[in-house]
Amino acid sequence: MDNIEIIFKNIINNNIEFTKHGKVATYIPELAKNNPNDLGVYLITLDGKEYCAGDYNKKFTMQSVSKVLTLMLSLIDNSNKVFEKVGMEPTGDGFNSIVNLEIKDIHKPFNPMINAGAIATTSMIKGKSVSDKVNRILDFARKLANNPSININEKTFLSEKETGHRNRSLAYFMKSYDIIEGNVEDILDIYFCQCSIEVTCKDIANMGCVLANDGISIHTGERLISEQICKIAKTIMSTCGLYDASGEFAVHIGIPAKSGVGGGIMAAVPHKMGIGVYGPALDEKGNSIAGIQILKELSQKLDLTIY
Ligand code: GLU
Repeated sequence: MDNIEIIFKNIINNNIEFTKHGKVATYIPELAKNNPNDLGVYLITLDGKEYCAGDYNKKFTMQSVSKVLTLMLSLIDNSNKVFEKVGMEPTGDGFNSIVNLEIKDIHKPFNPMINAGAIATTSMIKGKSVSDKVNRILDFARKLANNPSININEKTFLSEKETGHRNRSLAYFMKSYDIIEGNVEDILDIYFCQCSIEVTCKDIANMGCVLANDGISIHTGERLISEQICKIAKTIMSTCGLYDASGEFAVHIGIPAKSGVGGGIMAAVPHKMGIGVYGPALDEKGNSIAGIQILKELSQKLDLTIY
């Protein structure tokens, strides 16, 4: 038995207790149906070894984890022009905060990992129609996950569309300052679709693997993203990936990662592995409370910090 296998034997037992101290997201009604006791993890090393534990097979929606994908796609489509409309700085505010958009002179969202920034990067993805753009995002997710069956959870999409008033206000605010161009409702539909992409821990571990491997699929050897775009994505994940807990996560765990309110966290350990965790009980900042603890245990025991 190797070292990771030994750790995986107890990793759920060691951390399940933390799920009791978190709550599932309820502001999107469909997410309120998630089971707060779920906890799963999947780890894939760049040389192809796979490890899993707990509820690694349960499906959940990507939510903010998808923001990394749309950042990369918008960079593929527009290169660094993206950063004329979206910044690269952490905020220290919540993921759906409107305050910084209003008080800064240029009204540009702080970074692509908060909702405003992600809506802006999504608006820059090219395609002939809404469905064309959604299909490009889905196709990208399928390639990165090495899983052609990935799809959108229709119920979650509709739930977000019906209740996403805060996102709607962020988008219209940005439209009024020309941060986003085009039809706002169309852009929001694309954004709600990307958030509703349904995955498992294995899928996001595979996505993390591509990032850890500087853009090349470990399964096909195909280059899916340029090294430069991978570098930008991992850097922004390191500084902004865990909402306003990104600094603390960097100190204690030190792995480029992105969380979502669906309970997923995608982590990319450069040149070593991709990790996907799922635990829908969230802490007060919106991060998977037990998922963070699992990553902490792995980082400490396997010495994964990049710093
Ligand atoms: N769909 C969610 C929203 O826009 C994503 C938020 C998140 O995961 O942080 O509110």
